[in-house]
Amino acid sequence: MESASAQIWPARNMSDALALEGDDAYLAQVAGIDQWLNALPQAAAILSVFDDQFHLLRHNPRFSEALHAAPANALLEQCADRLRQSIVQGIESSSFEMRRDGRLGPEYFTCTAGRLGSAEGRDYYLFTISDRTNERTIEKNLRRELLSDGLTALPNRTGFGEEIDDRLRNSHWPDNAQFGILAIDLSRFSRVNESLGPMAGDELLITVAKRLKSCLRQGDVLARIGGNDFAIFARLNNGLSDILHIVQRIDEALSSPIRLSDLQIRVDCAIGCALSIDLKEDPDDVVRKAQAAVKIAKQSGKVEIYRNGVLKEAQRRFSIESRLRDVLAQGGLTLAYQPLIHLQTGEITGFEALARWHDEELGNVWPSEFIAVAEESGLITSLGRWAAYEAAQALSRWDAKFGQALPVSVNVNLSPIQMARDDVASVFEEALRYSGVAGNRLTAELTESAIIADPEKARKLLFALKDLDMAIAMDDFGTGFSNLASLHSLPIDILKIDRSFVSSMLGDHDKAVIVRTILSLAESLNLRVTAEGIETQELAHKLQAMGCWQGQGYYFARPMSEADAYDYWRARWNFETV
Ligand code: C2E
Ligand code: MG
Ligand code: MG
Repeated sequence: MESASAQIWPARNMSDALALEGDDAYLAQVAGIDQWLNALPQAAAILSVFDDQFHLLRHNPRFSEALHAAPANALLEQCADRLRQSIVQGIESSSFEMRRDGRLGPEYFTCTAGRLGSAEGRDYYLFTISDRTNERTIEKNLRRELLSDGLTALPNRTGFGEEIDDRLRNSHWPDNAQFGILAIDLSRFSRVNESLGPMAGDELLITVAKRLKSCLRQGDVLARIGGNDFAIFARLNNGLSDILHIVQRIDEALSSPIRLSDLQIRVDCAIGCALSIDLKEDPDDVVRKAQAAVKIAKQSGKVEIYRNGVLKEAQRRFSIESRLRDVLAQGGLTLAYQPLIHLQTGEITGFEALARWHDEELGNVWPSEFIAVAEESGLITSLGRWAAYEAAQALSRWDAKFGQALPVSVNVNLSPIQMARDDVASVFEEALRYSGVAGNRLTAELTESAIIADPEKARKLLFALKDLDMAIAMDDFGTGFSNLASLHSLPIDILKIDRSFVSSMLGDHDKAVIVRTILSLAESLNLRVTAEGIETQELAHKLQAMGCWQGQGYYFARPMSEADAYDYWRARWNFETV
């Protein structure tokens, strides 16, 4: 528009006219000026500038409309300031944006000023104003949608980053200030979604968002950065102690149950925190550290503060998870078999099947590492199914090699998560049918936590396994919190005393007392006992003397391949002594 008017309106003519007749006379002579202004699709005016003062000479009706609101003068004042700057700098034309507070909220204008010419010490400008309020409002709404979570109206992951940048840039921070990020993961959220439906899940998230919001101090930011993940950005005046105060407030806010339809739900959450080193640290890094800490908190059940190295661990867990997914699909895991020895006769009564994974990229990964990742990622269901089939198949291959059924059984480990999520009894039923081995050749090893998590479900499963004629062993016994009544009422056959009691019982009187107590408890409940972690002959003899039924440990043998296990059994069959 500017360049068009500059072409149609030759500066020479205008300055001539101005020189001859002055402002009013010139405007009177050039009849087209009003028509030109009216033809402009936006508010426009001719200004004269003299001694730094602005005079509005002519304008179109749209110009008065644009300035109709009360703070019009303020807008003109702002424009005048910008124009003055342009003039001082000798700029021929300039374009700038103005904002004013209108009755319905902020209004935005794009202003342009183009110098028309000068005469008698006066400069003449064509000044235009375009109202951009609509466009800016749409833009802002779109942006808000992009940056916020539709359900809770909190910032999302991207919005969180922008809010943090804004706080860091625009508020006053003392020297050596720090900020902290708290990552909050709602436990059992997927169970609410699965059992009560997504509407209840949404309601839970909204209520939790409101409660978390009540824990914020001025300047803190709460965001929903994932499905059931919230995060808080907190300004820290007293480092860790501030963080712990917020954690305490969160605990209090979530302590009372939430009502969802007819149910009262108690919300648990895992909290991981990370503190910035200083204000220059990239907030995204601190968020990642807090997320790594929350992963650990989910395992440990307590608030975790990020420490160096945790991020590396989180990355390793991530690669373990993605490799494990492939390896399970491609059949890259194996089972190793560790002999179980009858302590009184020296016979090999069976083997415990232990998962082994040698990965081409990650090297040897141990069950202590990958079972936890499998449980966290849900891959434990396929891993558990695979282990049940593979153990039953190994028995049937040994039987085929020997020409008849070997008098040994194989113990298969069950994870509490697998028991909660899968129909474990059907898995074993099919594994047995497929391999053609009898149910009494398999023993299920489960831990006390599996029973505590859902006693009724565990009870049904154990009876279903007994219906298949399988034996049931309580693994790592002594480390959990089982109540003795449940031991009595559940169909458990074997207690496996945890290695932590067995291995040190010779030098530690308390441990020896625990082992002795478990043995007499088992006797009165009519259970058999296996001692795990026997590493010396002395220990083996001691446990034998104490009347322990079975032993397992490096003293007898380490876990070995399927073929080695067969040879081991074959070589010792009928020739054993402890
Ligand atoms: P667990 O079921 O208690 O298995 C016994 C663990 O102790 C095995 O570790 C075994 O190698 C180790 N061990 C046996 N004797 C000795 C000894 O004399 N000294 C020492 N220091 N250790 C001994 P591993 O194979 O690393 O397995 C660790 C845990 O991983 C197992 O503990 C079990 O809970 C879990 N796991 C292994 N395979 C599977 C599986 O297929 N499914 C499930 N759900 N869990 C599994
Ligand atoms: Mg075990
Ligand atoms: Mg064990």
